[in-house]
Amino acid sequence: MPLCRVLDERQSVYVDRHFPQTLSKADGYRYRVILGVGGNIGDTRRRMNHLWHYLGKLPQICRIQSGVILKNPPFGFHEQNDFDNTVIEIATSLQPRALLRLIWRIEKRFGRCRSFANAPRTLDLDILFFENYKVRTKELTIPHPHWSERLSVTIPLESLA
Ligand code: ADP
Ligand code: MG
Repeated sequence: MPLCRVLDERQSVYVDRHFPQTLSKADGYRYRVILGVGGNIGDTRRRMNHLWHYLGKLPQICRIQSGVILKNPPFGFHEQNDFDNTVIEIATSLQPRALLRLIWRIEKRFGRCRSFANAPRTLDLDILFFENYKVRTKELTIPHPHWSERLSVTIPLESLA
């Protein structure tokens, strides 16, 4: 049964089945990464719990911990449902580009269709931090831009152990 703390009229913090949760220390993987997780179509919190199980089966990554879930209003394009956002810390030996490709496959697996910027989505996975790397290429910016200004990132992030 999820617990909910209302922050204000549009924002609530949820504690759900696997959010937050702490698992292993992930020995044997080279890099520690924080993924941002979001979505606003259908039962997003249920999907996040499925994602947690799904990630547990992938040999390329190791789950370390998850944060609380923040329900919050969309930005950019306002005519859509509120978002659920959380963060998941993982370990991996994949390089950033290879991890991005894996992320795209996972998003697709969870029903993501790409339409326009800031469109509704079943699952959005972003690489927020990759060790202390700074990456700036056409397809990747790490750390993820604007993370520090977004409660959708900072509230789940602050809940990590
Ligand atoms: P957004 O997450 O910004 O709402 P998308 O998920 O549609 O939008 O991603 C748009 C593009 O952002 C992707 O094609 C990807 O190449 C790029 N991108 C840049 N930096 C990152 C990052 N750190 N993590 C994930 N995608 C990123
Ligand atoms: Mg994204």
